[in-house]
Amino acid sequence: MAENLRIAIIGAGMGGLATALSLAKAGHKNITVYETAPGLGFVGAGIQLAPNMARILDRMGCWKQIAEEAVQCSDTSIREGSTDEELGYVKLEYVEKTYGYPHMVGHRASLAGAMYDGCLKEPGITFKLNSLISDVQFGAKPSFLVSPATAEKMSGARPERVECDILIGCDGVKSLTRVAMLKELNETADVKDSGQAAYRILLTREQMKDDPELIRLLDADTVTRWIGEKKHIIAYPIHNKQIYNISTAQPDVNFAGAPNSTYTTTGSKSAMMQVYGDFCPMIHRMLDLVPDGEVVEWKLRVHEPLSTWIHDSVALVGDACHPTLPHLAQGAAQAIEDGAVLGVTLHPKRIADCSPATINRALKLYEKVRKGRAEALVELAAENGRQMHLGSGKAKEERDKIFAALKTGKGPVPDKWADADVQRMIYGCDVVADAERVCKEEGFASKL
Ligand SMILES: Cc1cc2nc3c(=O)[nH]c(=O)nc-3n(C[C@H](O)[C@H](O)[C@H](O)COP(=O)(O)OP(=O)(O)OC[C@H]3O[C@@H](n4cnc5c(N)ncnc54)[C@H](O)[C@@H]3O)c2cc1C
Repeated sequence: MAENLRIAIIGAGMGGLATALSLAKAGHKNITVYETAPGLGFVGAGIQLAPNMARILDRMGCWKQIAEEAVQCSDTSIREGSTDEELGYVKLEYVEKTYGYPHMVGHRASLAGAMYDGCLKEPGITFKLNSLISDVQFGAKPSFLVSPATAEKMSGARPERVECDILIGCDGVKSLTRVAMLKELNETADVKDSGQAAYRILLTREQMKDDPELIRLLDADTVTRWIGEKKHIIAYPIHNKQIYNISTAQPDVNFAGAPNSTYTTTGSKSAMMQVYGDFCPMIHRMLDLVPDGEVVEWKLRVHEPLSTWIHDSVALVGDACHPTLPHLAQGAAQAIEDGAVLGVTLHPKRIADCSPATINRALKLYEKVRKGRAEALVELAAENGRQMHLGSGKAKEERDKIFAALKTGKGPVPDKWADADVQRMIYGCDVVADAERVCKEEGFASKL
């Protein structure tokens, strides 16, 4: 019975949770999710919840819970960081009318927590937390080593080899599954430095309360982006407007000389204030509210596109195969799209003969539906960063002319996430419907 195939999912991040839930909803009953973290505390920051993500989460039964805590964005304002002058303004209300879901922003804990709650209601899903996966082996029956990720490791517990029928590597940008797959295929796809890093900051209403200008930002339904040379800040209220979420992008100078394994560093507040020294006084006051010692900086790494995301009965999902710069706010949404498509192509009725050849075919169809789209968005996100980070010169003048035209209601939005054509491409695509269509075209639906 295909329902009982042993499915191992490595990583309980956005991609892993969505994949587990989507496979369980399709009827799979033997899914195990392995996660290094000892508990799913879901620390982190805010996240944009785009309609293409919402559509999938709604089908999986967890959107309502997320939407209740999220903030609906009515508009976005793109501003010059140095002066706070508005360069572009876009109303977002039409998004709900056009795509069925509003553009919302929320807390990562709320997004991941709702997917986790959904998984816990599925008897077919088991979580193995505190489990570090290594040494992935390919073939008709993939296998891997599982060791305790923390304390017990010290006491000499021996790693256990686990075999499965389908292995899905949702282990993020540092993916060991990707490294093993590339080795198996005798290929390379080096991790690339984007040259950028991000501060992620959460300010509470209490911290902001004495500054009327800052409180106005918290009370608005606006996603605000302040841009400058080689850097920007994007911010919006979350948690019923009790928290202002601020995410930045700037040159990664604080990571100079750090090994490739370094993804976060405790940043220095004075360095942060210096990087944004040429931004306006309001932004200085905002950043100055961050307590000393609480500045955390994230290195933004991507890698070359992979020749394939699948091998034998193993597939990669999310940042493991398409790490995306945050400038389009689509990384998690794309990982969730991956999971949703796997629920279609690996539907138990489609892989009813349980053969490794059929499983491999299902994974190939997953790749066919997802790879082109996800990689196009990786490139578009990088391009958006380049546009937003322009310094003085011809290219900036051209961009600012487009911003100026926007004030008269004409033309595209240079900040691509707010551009109607880009939104049509991203939000208007229903990947589940696409996957159903591709399966049908490829004669992979006949057993349903
Ligand atoms: C500053 C910033 C802002 C962003 N904003 C947005 C946004 O607004 N909207 C959006 O859609 N996306 C956004 N993203 C992108 C988004 O956060 C990621 O794309 C998304 O979290 C990727 O999900 P994932 O499941 O692939 O990887 P992850 O979330 O990284 O999950 C991987 C999981 O695998 C586990 N793991 C790793 N290795 C092992 C192992 N060997 N054994 C067991 N477990 C393992 C990890 O502990 C982790 O839990 C942003 C990213 C950044 C950096």
